[in-house]
Amino acid sequence: MDFLRPATWAEALAAKAERPQAVPLQGGTDVMVELNFGVRRPDALLDLTRVTELAAWEEAPDGRLRVGAGVPYARLITELGDRLPGLAQAARTVGSPQIRNRGTVGGNLGTASPAGDGHPPLLAAGAVVEAASAARGTRMIPADDFYLGVKRSALEPDELIRAFWTRPAAGPQYFAKVGTRNAMVIAVCSFAIALDPVARRVGTGVGSAAPTPRRAAAAEEFLAAELDWDAPLDPAVLTRFGELAAAAASPIDDVRGTAAYRRHALAVLARRTLTWAWNDLRAAPRARRTG
Ligand SMILES: Cc1cc2nc3c(=O)[nH]c(=O)nc-3n(C[C@H](O)[C@H](O)[C@H](O)COP(=O)(O)OP(=O)(O)OC[C@H]3O[C@@H](n4cnc5c(N)ncnc54)[C@H](O)[C@@H]3O)c2cc1C
Repeated sequence: MDFLRPATWAEALAAKAERPQAVPLQGGTDVMVELNFGVRRPDALLDLTRVTELAAWEEAPDGRLRVGAGVPYARLITELGDRLPGLAQAARTVGSPQIRNRGTVGGNLGTASPAGDGHPPLLAAGAVVEAASAARGTRMIPADDFYLGVKRSALEPDELIRAFWTRPAAGPQYFAKVGTRNAMVIAVCSFAIALDPVARRVGTGVGSAAPTPRRAAAAEEFLAAELDWDAPLDPAVLTRFGELAAAAASPIDDVRGTAAYRRHALAVLARRTLTWAWNDLRAAPRARRTG
């Protein structure tokens, strides 16, 4: 097996163009497991850890954050936790400290597992994936269009993920996950919510309850239309939001849980995260709610 070690982003793209079957390696917390278990035996690994720009994040002139694909979860939590609270919450649930030191959102996107914890908050926040190839340059893929099937994404064989783009949270964001134990666990199901009280927008993301991570679009539309942003949360609205979030799933029975349990748990997570978000909103000064 060849071990390719580009030193720059341009070299990485050139290597991927020349050898599209080469498997990118960032934190290695998915790739090395697959190699160890013989799930795949690629001709080449494309080590991205020397490409320094992948491990950096920046604030664009329009205020959006561009977070390099190689920024590990531990740094997301400490450096961006205040601006991306939903993603940081999800990051805190990933694996163990060792996994969070190595693992990245870029790798989570590369694997595109329906159970990946990074996906629901990216969907809820309306994040965009920046992909690039030597032949065609940069392509921006909304997270909503990125996931195509179980561990299948919109990424072409000659493309690499450069970064994801997202706005700093405009309001409360929450992520919640049900697992078969409290830590080091693959989600049985998960849910993320992002509220933007100024734009009066609701974002959601459902994890581990369908072939791909996905938004609960009907739940978002319902909530945006029915919420009275200046009043206490109506229990009927809360209940219906949970029902619609659960209805967005198309779960299966597997070793981690039944489809019926996943639907039930999703409704609970949706109600719970909305309640947390709403409580934050009500506690915030009115100026922050109205812009
Ligand atoms: C013990 C353990 C616990 C875990 N717990 C969790 C958990 O709780 N939640 C969770 O979501 N995941 C968990 N994982 C899975 C893994 O840690 C995550 O998916 C992590 O985000 C992978 O990131 P990485 O940088 O290590 O990716 P890598 O293993 O380096 O790569 C993962 C995939 O992405 C591709 N890739 C990497 N970088 C790029 C790029 N720039 N462009 C294109 N493709 C790229 C790789 O080729 C590979 O297919 C766990 C893994 C282990 C071993």
